[in-house]
Amino acid sequence: MAEILVLAEHSGESVKKVTCELLTLARAYGEPAVVWTGAGAEGGRARLAEFGATKVYVADGGDYDDYVVAPKAELLAHLVAEKSPAAVLIAATSEGREVAGRLAVKTGSGILTDVTGLSEGLIGEQSIFGGAITVQSRVRAGTPIVAVRPNAVTPEPASGAAELEPVSFSVSDAAKNTRVTGRVVAERGERPDLTEASIVVSGGRGLGSGEHFALIEQLADSLGAAVGASRAATDAGWYPHQFQVGQTGKTVSPQLYLAVGISGAIQHRAGMQTSKTIMVINKDPEAPIFELADFGVVGDLFKVVPQLVEEIAKRSES
Ligand SMILES: Cc1cc2nc3c(=O)[nH]c(=O)nc-3n(C[C@H](O)[C@H](O)[C@H](O)COP(=O)(O)OP(=O)(O)OC[C@H]3O[C@@H](n4cnc5c(N)ncnc54)[C@H](O)[C@@H]3O)c2cc1C
Repeated sequence: MAEILVLAEHSGESVKKVTCELLTLARAYGEPAVVWTGAGAEGGRARLAEFGATKVYVADGGDYDDYVVAPKAELLAHLVAEKSPAAVLIAATSEGREVAGRLAVKTGSGILTDVTGLSEGLIGEQSIFGGAITVQSRVRAGTPIVAVRPNAVTPEPASGAAELEPVSFSVSDAAKNTRVTGRVVAERGERPDLTEASIVVSGGRGLGSGEHFALIEQLADSLGAAVGASRAATDAGWYPHQFQVGQTGKTVSPQLYLAVGISGAIQHRAGMQTSKTIMVINKDPEAPIFELADFGVVGDLFKVVPQLVEEIAKRSES
């Protein structure tokens, strides 16, 4: 079986959930071989093995951390030429999409972005026009480069050898034109990362003010969830922009998405409609978000949310 290269997303030794999702997908269509850039491969190996990686190509020079995306695209192009994989899977994060685009150009290959699933023949499924249409596409030129939306696939363990194999490759000077000069770690607190969380609770204009986001945080914390927000809420300064869900914000696809005081504009839907289960709290029964909802409560969020938090607390105690 041909290899399928999976570009690892990791933070030091910690392997991000999306990498396990990519490995789960890759296993179905070839031998999953991880491409690990930068330090930490030894520490991350066990997790990669747990999700079926057969091999881990390790390029651990500082170039990959110090020079934005170009070195990663060059390295992958080198591995595509050398290993002739059946496909390359990359997370459709903002960085991953850029790496994927550059790789497609370098290898003269077709690319599928924002893929939510793969089927036989490496046919990718994509949700387009704000989710109004689902399309199936297949790459016909070169090596399929597939950027997969985080949270679209449920990661399933399967053991693999995850043998580490060093890659000796020199990044070109041209790929080092843009240097990372510093990093600021975003304050995240105890909550899970928005794009990785299995439950997301989002608040919208219906909250009426920034202070009322405390209600959303309470509900999120009672469920171990991440907090999201509509653009109306972030534009009003009620919650930081990094938590915005939607077309111009983050794309999430959790097991459970709770939309509180959000009307369901097409730009918001674009970022959350592939969530597995959608629950809505809105006082307007005509709000378009109800069209997407698996469960909906028509009611005042200021009454419903505290009751919900109380009920969850009771159930967690028992
Ligand atoms: C180019 C472009 C990009 C955009 N990108 C995004 C994006 O990425 N993400 C995004 O979210 N939006 C985006 N928008 C904005 C989008 O069109 C909507 O304006 C926005 O999503 C509305 O946010 P909302 O649902 O919170 O507010 P509203 O549409 O005002 O809805 C508020 C809802 O709260 C309900 N409500 C009010 N009070 C209560 C209460 N007490 N209890 C219960 N329910 C209550 C109301 O019934 C209403 O349904 C974009 C727009 C454009 C033009």
